[in-house]
Amino acid sequence: MITRLKEDILKRFLRYVQVDTMSDDRVVDTKRPSTDGQWDLLKMLASELVELGVDDVHIDEKGIVIAKIPSNMKKAVPVVGFMAHVDTADDVPGNGVKPRVIEKYDGGDIPLNEEHSIVAAENPELSDYVGETLVVTDGTTLLGSDDKAGIAEIMSAVRHLMEHPEIEHGGINIIFTSDEETGAGMDGFPYEKLDCEYCYTVDGGRRFEIQSECFNAVTVKVGFEGVSYHLGAARGRMVNALTMASAFIGALPQAESPEATDGRYGYYCAHTIEGSIRHVDLTVYLRDFDLENLDRRIEVLKGLARTIEGLYPGGKVDLQAKHIYYNMAQIAKDKLIALDTLFAAGKALGFELKNEVIRGGTDGSRMANEAGIPCPNIFTGGYNVHSRYEWAALPAMVDATRLILKIIELGAAL
Ligand SMILES: [Zn+2]
Repeated sequence: MITRLKEDILKRFLRYVQVDTMSDDRVVDTKRPSTDGQWDLLKMLASELVELGVDDVHIDEKGIVIAKIPSNMKKAVPVVGFMAHVDTADDVPGNGVKPRVIEKYDGGDIPLNEEHSIVAAENPELSDYVGETLVVTDGTTLLGSDDKAGIAEIMSAVRHLMEHPEIEHGGINIIFTSDEETGAGMDGFPYEKLDCEYCYTVDGGRRFEIQSECFNAVTVKVGFEGVSYHLGAARGRMVNALTMASAFIGALPQAESPEATDGRYGYYCAHTIEGSIRHVDLTVYLRDFDLENLDRRIEVLKGLARTIEGLYPGGKVDLQAKHIYYNMAQIAKDKLIALDTLFAAGKALGFELKNEVIRGGTDGSRMANEAGIPCPNIFTGGYNVHSRYEWAALPAMVDATRLILKIIELGAAL
């Protein structure tokens, strides 16, 4: 089984990464998918699913592919979903990828071209894969394991199920989206077409790492209203909105900023400012894994706004806080099926799964937030993603597919 998975995953991965699918955040608001290459891959995946024997494959006008594999059992069990995205990032060129396969990695540095190498000392995880198969770039583009490794792993799991009708399973939803890297991947997502009760994005990184928690996110808009006056006669009359805004920003604790925090620590981040003496608009991002801590920060900002008003009589500070998304663990805590099944599957395979927090949101966190479907993230076996030094480890990719298949198997016994 593992040899067959290896061959199939590698072939698929090499095929998918060579489709140009870099997304474009400048046009994503008016064009979905934002780039035509994404259509090519979405259509390729839809027809490959049909070829594999999946009857119910739908691709909508936004390019979202939803395929449904019906249960082959008499008893009813919850439907499970797996999701991945076709687009690649634009941090380095994401099109024109020329993947190179390294068989039996020797443990040393990996030259990509005359200029660039993957240095073994900077990539300690490479030592886990000595003698194994890796895929690297030619040093001019990213590789695209984010998230074409995830796609190849899901597709290979589907192929395995289709070739082994004796494997009992419940209903399965397969979802491929576009434009994840622009943040618009789930805008207008047709949740009503899904019937999964729990889902997984296969969009993570290093082997055995999973993610089930993301930030709670609040955007705070602060408006500073000053009093403008002729500068020559301003004494005692003018109130400078810029001064008020800078006092506000200056009071934010530096130790609770993105550049001073990691792990589970939350932060305040002055994000955007625009204005003049008369009026300033400031946007502050608040992030925290803990909702109470986040709410505390909102209260702190409200208090600060009142203080600034007191310090600058005549000036006004208006503050609006808006929750953008919630920690998906918050949503999953009443629906433990996703995490329980994931950890049970890992245990059955002897994988030591490590649960890491995401200092951001994911498409899975949007699914959890917008549809109440718990959706943790599974590793893909891609490393250094979004960079020319990206590499993918075939054994880790095989393990991701084995994990997907085990989740399906355990889901049939629920
Ligand atoms: Zn991704």
